[in-house]
Amino acid sequence: MEDTKVLIIEDEPDVVEMLKRAFARGGGFAVSSANDGAAGLRKAREEMPKIIILDLMLPRMSGLEICRALKADSLTRDILVLMLTAKAEEVDRIVGFELGADDYVTKPFSPRELVLRTKAILRRADTPDEGQSFVAGPLTIDAARHRVEVSGRPVHLTMLEFKLLHALMQRRGRTQNRDKLLTDVWGYESAIDTRTVDTHVRRLREKLGKAGAAIETVRGFGYRLREE
Ligand code: CA
Repeated sequence: MEDTKVLIIEDEPDVVEMLKRAFARGGGFAVSSANDGAAGLRKAREEMPKIIILDLMLPRMSGLEICRALKADSLTRDILVLMLTAKAEEVDRIVGFELGADDYVTKPFSPRELVLRTKAILRRADTPDEGQSFVAGPLTIDAARHRVEVSGRPVHLTMLEFKLLHALMQRRGRTQNRDKLLTDVWGYESAIDTRTVDTHVRRLREKLGKAGAAIETVRGFGYRLREE
């Protein structure tokens, strides 16, 4: 099997070196890097990596701008993005901005964990949709077409939001704990940060408007989609 192309866009040389070593140990990756935003975007377009490890704060062009540019271009839209952030407070911004980052890691991080996360994202991207459709009240989800509608109006969801809603609809009425959602939706082998689930559920509810109330919080446990 061919090595998976990874592009690291990061201005701190120490972090780049640390990541390169971790990916080399992880096996099966061909890694290149860029140390400013503009060079990173150019390299992304030239090299067409499978995934980009993208620092948020970069000289010449921020990680947010790069993400936006990649997702706006049909050629680069499918490149996966793992965002690196310096502060936990930035996480809500990243999720909220809907930039289509596939995951994020807060600095300082363990390089080994970052490689595991990368593998989880790659696995998730390679999992074909089950092709099932579900209807729950005003909500309709069509997995094959990747479409969600509320009362017949399409709602735009990120891939993670879509998978999250799909998991809840598929197991309607049954409570899903956060660890299980992290395993099934995010593809993590162990629960790393269950706050991720809360952030995405909040965002998903907002996007679904009134229909979002069907996603119930089960205190101290997780979430479920209400049965009528
Ligand atoms: Ca930086």
